Amino acid sequence: DHYDDFDWQGLLDSIGADIAPLLTHGEVANYIPALAAVDPESFAMAFVNLRGETFTTGRASTPFSIQSISKVFALILALELEGEALWDRVGREPSGTAFNSIVQLEEDHGVPRNPLINAGAIVVTDSIVGHCGESTAIARLLAFIRKAANSLGPRIDMKVAESEEAYGDRNRALAYFMKSFGILKEDVPIALKAYFQQCAIAMSTVDLARAGLFLANGGTDPATGLELTTKTRTDRLNAIMMMCGHYDMSGDFAFSVGLPGKSGVGGGILAIIPQVGSVAVWSPRLNQAGNSLAGTQALQWFSERSQVTLF
Ligand code: GLU
Repeated sequence: DHYDDFDWQGLLDSIGADIAPLLTHGEVANYIPALAAVDPESFAMAFVNLRGETFTTGRASTPFSIQSISKVFALILALELEGEALWDRVGREPSGTAFNSIVQLEEDHGVPRNPLINAGAIVVTDSIVGHCGESTAIARLLAFIRKAANSLGPRIDMKVAESEEAYGDRNRALAYFMKSFGILKEDVPIALKAYFQQCAIAMSTVDLARAGLFLANGGTDPATGLELTTKTRTDRLNAIMMMCGHYDMSGDFAFSVGLPGKSGVGGGILAIIPQVGSVAVWSPRLNQAGNSLAGTQALQWFSERSQVTLF
């Protein structure tokens, strides 16, 4: 392709230099103490192309809490396990509301708008628990992510998981409310235990970019040849990320970056450039919607300066 000779390292170096003044802007997530403990001015970016070549800038091998980015991998695993029936209990519409919002659930009879907000992700995790059982659900998800990343680096940060559990009343409220409509099937504490551990998955920016590579290549890891999901599911997942990956700023991200992406309140963002590669960024300070402030700017520069576009 015409990106064969593109200077990705030069691009990342320029972003790493230009981002410095922005690293003091925004607030680190403080809804749980374990997340507030990170160095707020950290920054890392990693890009992996379809040849498996990796380019980085900043602290790209430092593990961080991927939080909601795990929702992407959980969704693929749940679709592999449950099939399209999963869509009976979770929608595909952008919510226009915050990550942990409950307002739409009542009028929608307990069916969350999409799988990338908390309510929808809890349904997805409930499905994984239902198919794998309480004790192996998270091990299955972690194994899937490690396989996608081609790395044993991804792990569960138990301190973050305990913190999620200790401060999880909003997620409990969402889960019991959905359970009352019969949308959630497993016992709420069991489904949520898995969900909290899923949010607490930690991995480096390099591993995260690598883990997203199959999504840039129709579901097959171009480096190992491993088929992680089908082409159809990959296309649909990218569509969902494009429409719903950034909570109530999903439209804004699509407008300024123009790529399918998923953010997490730990400050990470994974973005996919179909047929080109996968890019991950991490910077803990967040904008008002809970998306990495410097990370969003870095991705905007990435797409503008490389001219990668879906359009
Ligand atoms: N652990 C967070 C929660 O459930 C995830 C939120 C996020 O990354 O958006 O509240």
